[in-house]
Amino acid sequence: MDELSSKLQEILDDVHNNMYQLCKKRLEEKTQIATNLEEFERKINENQGYIKAMWCGDEKCEDKIKELTGARSRCIPYEQEKLSDTCVCCGKKAKHMVVWARQY
Ligand SMILES: [Zn+2]
Repeated sequence: MDELSSKLQEILDDVHNNMYQLCKKRLEEKTQIATNLEEFERKINENQGYIKAMWCGDEKCEDKIKELTGARSRCIPYEQEKLSDTCVCCGKKAKHMVVWARQY
């Protein structure tokens, strides 16, 4: 890599990094934790953002959550946290922590 492209790469890395940090911060500010459906519904109605909740992996639960709250699973973060042992919807053993959001 010549000097110019390595400099350019450095700038791009920097921009990317800043954007990522900003995005992450914004995401964190707008993300709330729910451990049951009631909480999920209330929090997503109060604050139009993201909900972090445990999920058992069953599509039926995903559908039910969508039906009740209008939110869909957005991603399963690489950095998993254990918010609780049980699925926010059915109360069975949870497999993943999922970030949920409504589609606008
Ligand atoms: Zn479930």
